Amino acid sequence: MKKPALLLFVLLSANIFAQKTYIYCGKLIDAIGNVPLSAKTIIIDGNKIIDVQDGYATPGSGDNLIDLKNKTVLPGLMDMHVHLESETKRNAVADKLTTEPQDIAFKAANYANTTLMAGFTTVRDLGGSRVNISLRNAINNGTTIGPRVYTAGKTIATTGGHGDPSNGLKREFGGDPGPLDGVVNGVDECRKAVRQRYKDGSDLIKITATGGVLSQAKDGSGAQFTEEEIRAIVETAKDYGFKVAAHAHGAEGMKRAIRGGVTSIEHGTFMDDECIELFKKYGTWLVPTIIAGKSTADSAKIPGYFTAIVTPKALATGPKIQATFTKAYKAGVKIAFGTDAGVFMHGKNYLEFKYMTEGGMPPMEAIKSATISAATLLGIENILGTIQKDKLADIIAVDGDPLQDILAMGKVVFVMKDGKIYKQ
Ligand SMILES: [Zn+2]
Repeated sequence: MKKPALLLFVLLSANIFAQKTYIYCGKLIDAIGNVPLSAKTIIIDGNKIIDVQDGYATPGSGDNLIDLKNKTVLPGLMDMHVHLESETKRNAVADKLTTEPQDIAFKAANYANTTLMAGFTTVRDLGGSRVNISLRNAINNGTTIGPRVYTAGKTIATTGGHGDPSNGLKREFGGDPGPLDGVVNGVDECRKAVRQRYKDGSDLIKITATGGVLSQAKDGSGAQFTEEEIRAIVETAKDYGFKVAAHAHGAEGMKRAIRGGVTSIEHGTFMDDECIELFKKYGTWLVPTIIAGKSTADSAKIPGYFTAIVTPKALATGPKIQATFTKAYKAGVKIAFGTDAGVFMHGKNYLEFKYMTEGGMPPMEAIKSATISAATLLGIENILGTIQKDKLADIIAVDGDPLQDILAMGKVVFVMKDGKIYKQ
């Protein structure tokens, strides 16, 4: 290398000519304090926030300036319960026999895009066919656009339980699925199913500790794993650094899951006082999904939308979740934002904020549940969840002030993920 070229190379390596991005924030909710800040400048270099300054700092020549002086700026939102592979539709059961994984993949890519444009820069996908693992990889390597995805791959259920993919199918179509397909009986199969998820490339484990609303099975809330089986799953999951999320509506299955050591309970619909005590004793998170309850109960009122076995469960379970959320919140249970998106239309995730505030949680706390609390549940609070120096640049802005009108969370006008702008 000749001398001038060498000098240029050294300078470029030292990042001296790197272009920085300055974001002027009229109002900033950084998810650290409990009050919004005003007139701040966020400075981003590459994919990192390198400073947050008072007032409107002057960018250097060649730097980018984004003026959000009349917007509210927040950390990228995080939804701890989505299903990117599917979206609610009438008579969805028939699709099981006619839809190829590649058909699912194209749709999933669209749902991921919609989710990111709605301001959700990180999601936990709590179960699908494994297309969600390929989707995560495609997003990470830049093939398609979407949020950061932490996925469970295929959920783990018991035979006939919520998440047994053969439920409701004629036996010649459904067969007798095992650990490979996420259906287990007994501790050995539990361990095998966790190891299979590791082999598949999952980021975490999802179990269905009780019956569920949308499965083609009669019971929507009874316990479906023994406590011994749950312990085997949690213990094996730890070997691979996996956290375990447990779907649970009924109290008995919820108690077994909490005592068994799961990290989060999804829905939590019929929790009793003993459940609440266990949540607090074990430090278990609740991911409420109020919107899923409300939307499935609404769909159930449309004749023929669900099968005859699903409709009564949707009507009995859905409307209960919001009151449960209120009870748990008031009792001091740790809450992380999650919606079950896919059970309703992707992109409407923000409505959960409305239901949480209706249920008694102040707007600032609801926003924290979808930022720093969610990051803590995922174990990534050191790199995401707040707007502060040295964190990754996942930043959004909304029109209006969500602390005055929570529906402003649906008016996302700017999205940056990992320092890259996706919506402006
Ligand atoms: Zn779900």
